[in-house]
Amino acid sequence: MTVTVLIALVVVALAVGLFVFRAIPGVRAYFGYRGKRLITCPETHTTEAVDVAAGEAAVGAFLSEPTLRLKECSRWPERQDCGQECLQQIEIDPEKCLVWNIVSKWYEGKSCVFCHKPIGPLHHVDHAPALLAPDHTTLEWKQVRPEQLPEIFRTHRPVCWNCHVAESFRRLHPELVVNRELEPKRIR
Ligand SMILES: [Zn+2]
Repeated sequence: MTVTVLIALVVVALAVGLFVFRAIPGVRAYFGYRGKRLITCPETHTTEAVDVAAGEAAVGAFLSEPTLRLKECSRWPERQDCGQECLQQIEIDPEKCLVWNIVSKWYEGKSCVFCHKPIGPLHHVDHAPALLAPDHTTLEWKQVRPEQLPEIFRTHRPVCWNCHVAESFRRLHPELVVNRELEPKRIR
């Protein structure tokens, strides 16, 4: 192996090492800033749902520092030219304002109003739990516009996915549901 090849290999190894070293904060920024978040709009003081441009934050983190910019807001496109001051709230605590975490925290320690099974925090692989509205209809939390969730959580009650499916079926096809009384012999 000539000295030139050896130097070339060392240079390539250093470049790969440097790339990996810089890629780590980039990947961390991407996964840290993706997802829908709830913020209080500094202009209207209302809850709004926003998305940070996570790809851009990742490139920024790869080069030096993550640069935060909004990709979407529930007040857009009307207020698309706003100063994006709400980004400060995300910078202070990116985890706390994540919709997934807010919803997960609300369900934690709560039980289904129908079957009383504990629902607990959210899991990505599970079916989404649901909500019971004051008019006694059920809906999945994902069907609610994210910026309305804090208000919905004040008026709705937790329902597990199984009971939501059963209740929806009962509501949509009342003619197919038989509310059979339990036979005494079957109760032990
Ligand atoms: Zn249930």
